[in-house]
Amino acid sequence: MKAITVNNLIKNYKNVNAVNSISFEINEGELFAFLGENGAGKSTTINILCTILKKTSGDVKIFDYELDKDDNEIRNSIGIVFQNSVLDFKLTVEENLISRASYYGLNRKKALEVIKPFFEMFELEDIWKRKYENLSGGQRRRVDIVRALINKPRILFLDEPTTGLDPKSRSIVWKYINKLRLEQKITIFLTTHYMEEVVDADRVVILDKGNIVANDTPANLKSKYANTKLYWYTVQNKANNKLISNYEYKYEVDHYIVDMNSEEIRTFIYENQITDFEVFKGSMDDVFLKLTGKELM
Ligand code: ADP
Repeated sequence: MKAITVNNLIKNYKNVNAVNSISFEINEGELFAFLGENGAGKSTTINILCTILKKTSGDVKIFDYELDKDDNEIRNSIGIVFQNSVLDFKLTVEENLISRASYYGLNRKKALEVIKPFFEMFELEDIWKRKYENLSGGQRRRVDIVRALINKPRILFLDEPTTGLDPKSRSIVWKYINKLRLEQKITIFLTTHYMEEVVDADRVVILDKGNIVANDTPANLKSKYANTKLYWYTVQNKANNKLISNYEYKYEVDHYIVDMNSEEIRTFIYENQITDFEVFKGSMDDVFLKLTGKELM
């Protein structure tokens, strides 16, 4: 089943072409990563999918619901974690979640029933009675995510859920997101600035100035756009430059860097009797750089 189907979606603001006839599909249960530098058109697309913003043209379906026609059903099927929390800093976690549930017509008892499955999964016990303002960044995100799950969405939109968090908090937030994916089979639509977070995605779409420049699995993108790099440390003339043409002299000392496949690297190291070297597998950062000409961070 397709969770999201987007066909030739266009959004023009007065004289800005923000989204330029993009098409993509997301299967139910997938972790989908939507990448692009600032201004690429990510928020515009997400806001359209979430019924917050009107499209200029194109077709969007969320499951079998058509955007502009079945917007209530769409809103009932999705949860959104915004970059800035919508929770009240002065209230406790409990008060925040109960009051949010009332927006969906749930009384306290019903709200607790809905939140209960997530209580354990997100380890809310210790922070339940604490004020939101006194929580760490990672704990706040955890509560934000539970807040977005109150209407039992089948798709969760996470807009840069880990921006500004330290690496440890980021990995903790990911622990919870992964639990959600695996235990609840919720489709996750993710935007992020951290390329290492998209390695486990089922599908990655890269947006550049309103156009899709890549739509594939991380593994396929890496094999297409990110070669392995070899750094070797040796006397300049000793390396057989004929073997490879595209190496690059890196620093003032004898460091070289080159894009090669594994077979070429083995031959190169053997033939040149290189004893000191480092090999780096191509990363999603390389993919992004190759496709957009820019670093994501
Ligand atoms: P991203 O989320 O990838 O950073 P946006 O979707 O926010 O990108 O923006 C895409 C483009 O549309 C940018 O050029 C931005 O300046 C422009 N844009 C966004 N919102 C508006 C608006 N309300 N009016 C005019 N232009 C806008």
